Amino acid sequence: MPLSLSPHPNKTYTLAYITALPLELTTALTLLDDIHGIPQSQPPGDNNAYILGRIGNHNVVMTCLPAGRMGTGAAAAVGEGVRRSFVGVRVAVLVGIGGGVSCFHRGGEDVRLGDVVVGVPGGGGYGGVIQYDLGDGEGQLNAPPEKLLGYVTMVNCLLERNNCLGEVLGELGEKYAYPVHVEDRLFCSGYYHRGGGCLACGDGDRDGEIYREKRESTLPVVHVGTIASGNTVIGDGVTRDRICSRYKGSVLCFEMEAAGLVNSLPCLVVRGISDYADVHKNDEWRLRAIAAAASYAKALILHIPPEEAPQEVVQVTELVEEIKEIRGELAQVKAMLETGLSRINYSLWDLQGTKYKVWKEFFQWLLPFGFGRQQQECLKED
Ligand SMILES: [Zn+2]
Repeated sequence: MPLSLSPHPNKTYTLAYITALPLELTTALTLLDDIHGIPQSQPPGDNNAYILGRIGNHNVVMTCLPAGRMGTGAAAAVGEGVRRSFVGVRVAVLVGIGGGVSCFHRGGEDVRLGDVVVGVPGGGGYGGVIQYDLGDGEGQLNAPPEKLLGYVTMVNCLLERNNCLGEVLGELGEKYAYPVHVEDRLFCSGYYHRGGGCLACGDGDRDGEIYREKRESTLPVVHVGTIASGNTVIGDGVTRDRICSRYKGSVLCFEMEAAGLVNSLPCLVVRGISDYADVHKNDEWRLRAIAAAASYAKALILHIPPEEAPQEVVQVTELVEEIKEIRGELAQVKAMLETGLSRINYSLWDLQGTKYKVWKEFFQWLLPFGFGRQQQECLKED
């Protein structure tokens, strides 16, 4: 069923929810309390597709990278489109899946499948997201907006007291449930499966596995740290660990879009962990990881009070548009006047005698140009 135009102007949308994969967008749509429709207008140059709606007190813009597109460049283009079409958007959340870096066996974070990693400044002095495939010193990117960081801290404290992510996960439905039949196994970086058909890692060999105690709860645990972003899929433990060592062990997650987005929009990156960025893959965790990130994003959005659209930006933009319209109308009036006056001038060729003299005086007073020459030429032709 086609969506109708949103009843709300673009400028009333203050928060953007951006995903890389269609499946992530599908999940995100179920978070909306209301679906408003599509934008009332979209300027040339913005190629994004939008669905607009409401989460709690926020009018939210939802969009996804175009089909078949991935990586930082595509994400940057999406961010630019949002900026162009929605001048009221103050913050964005990039929500989806990523490859986790579990380093608890080295005294670091115990990141597990189905957990959530939020990119915040801190460890190692990085700004929340780094682009690892640029040269040294070039990968520093904009940090998330300060206000969002405050709410990340607050929501994380609340979740420590009472992990309410289960409520949102429950609302999403059974298909997003914790995959109890699929074991969450972490392997040493240099361990490669012995046979084919891995399904992380179905070869039955536990020699390369890192032992971790089972958690009491299957609810997502939220970790904050550095998210490493780049244009290639990291699917090898040795490569993963080599990159991590360049960033003082602060990296908790790998993904492919954040570096493109955070410099075009004030943005917080939220990733559900679907694998360990190594050779051992099992897609059965994808839905759970998507849902974990989405449920955290919703919890965060619900705790952020509504913010007025930036009036000064809106007003200036509206003023510019009005001036453009007025200039266009003036140009039309000018063209009409010139055409009309030209016709009047040529019609004088038919006038003679006293009557002509009166008309001549009148038109000399009225017109910005002389018409005697045209009259003489006309008489010669006769
Ligand atoms: Zn394997």
